[in-house]
Amino acid sequence: MARPTNITLCSFCGKSHAEVKKLIAGPGVYICDNCITLCKSVLDKELSTETKKSPIKLNVPKPTEIKRILDIHCIGQEQAKKTLAVAVHNHYKRILQDVSGAEKEESSEATIDAHSDVEIEKSNILLVGPTGSGKTLLARTLAKILDVPFAIADATTLTEAGYVGEDVENIILRLLQNADYDVKRAQMGIVYIDEIDKIARKTENVSITRDVSGEGVQQALLKILEGTVCNVPPQGGRKHPQQEYIRVDTSGILFVCGGAFVGLEKIVHRRLGHRVMGFGAMDQGRSVAMIERDKMLQFVEPEDLINFGFIPEFVGRLPMLTALEELTEEQLVQILTETRNALTKQYCKLMAMDGVDLQFTPDALRELAHQALKKGTGARALRTLLEKLMLDVMFEIPTSEDITGVKITRAAVTGETKPIIRRKANQAAA
Ligand code: ADP
Repeated sequence: MARPTNITLCSFCGKSHAEVKKLIAGPGVYICDNCITLCKSVLDKELSTETKKSPIKLNVPKPTEIKRILDIHCIGQEQAKKTLAVAVHNHYKRILQDVSGAEKEESSEATIDAHSDVEIEKSNILLVGPTGSGKTLLARTLAKILDVPFAIADATTLTEAGYVGEDVENIILRLLQNADYDVKRAQMGIVYIDEIDKIARKTENVSITRDVSGEGVQQALLKILEGTVCNVPPQGGRKHPQQEYIRVDTSGILFVCGGAFVGLEKIVHRRLGHRVMGFGAMDQGRSVAMIERDKMLQFVEPEDLINFGFIPEFVGRLPMLTALEELTEEQLVQILTETRNALTKQYCKLMAMDGVDLQFTPDALRELAHQALKKGTGARALRTLLEKLMLDVMFEIPTSEDITGVKITRAAVTGETKPIIRRKANQAAA
């Protein structure tokens, strides 16, 4: 029997108003809630396979290009920048190869080539260098160059599972958070683990109690460094059995570990004996101790790290080993003025917003660098010194509309006088 023509029917399934929960009208057509749900699931499926197929956008610059950008942000540290540029280039080439390999397999286009069964191993990086020499800066800049997520962890807060402290999975959680919980992107990220030297086994620790801070943490880190699928608790904190985990594969994550490794130079020296004595006097402006330390660390070998207190497997997971030098006074001046976000440029910009022209005399910059060097915290001290120096000026400027310029002289840095302030009426006040 034919249905009456005056009742509305779903244009897709033909059900009437009475047979469905909702019927939505369009111009001359109707669709019911069942058909909407069906269409949505079709669309969802299509879209998800599309995103799966869409290639991971990863631009892998050439080592020279990576080094060129690192140069813009980081002064000196030539050897470290070169090593990092090569390591990072190879690491991301390896990831791209894995991704395209998987895609080819999926589309059954795989072609046999001579290297198809060669697996490129992961090369995590170890940066050995004093505080404030640019280790974190380098790792952070690399992440920016590659446009991948980045996370920083502090090895001293980590403990092996079951002890008070942070589980190593929390490092991956931080990366995941910085990738907005996009697991695929997090799996290509860069993690910087600071103070890695603090988890070395202390040779004097001969007690029978477990070495919580040292070897156990190395063991725990070992797994994520070499590449494992780890279960990350989405809310962080300690793991517990009822929790749901996010699974993250760490085999594509590049780990950069850094530390000051105080005393490592002595271990290198002991191994080399007197073979590398007499370095020449080309390093002016550096103390003999600085030259000794920097030069010794250029010769660091994995066995020195084992002697320092690392287990051989851990050292094996950080095959790219490079040393950063202590920054010289001249380099500290360059850091103040030449890098893209140099501190003096930042202050000049801030002041320019208030219409004030800020200048530093060359001897003021040198004095700042000199004072920073004495503090022994590398470039970190520069910021503290400048903040202190600029405090009064920064306090006054936004309310004093007649100020047109500020000049920082050496005497202002040493505290003998105040910065020279130029006012609209053209009179200079000390
Ligand atoms: P660390 O070696 O202790 O990780 P950081 O990379 O955190 O040192 O450096 C602290 C700050 O000092 C950075 O934010 C950066 O502004 C500055 N800095 C350190 N080294 C350099 C460098 N070689 N070139 C430019 N800036 C540097």
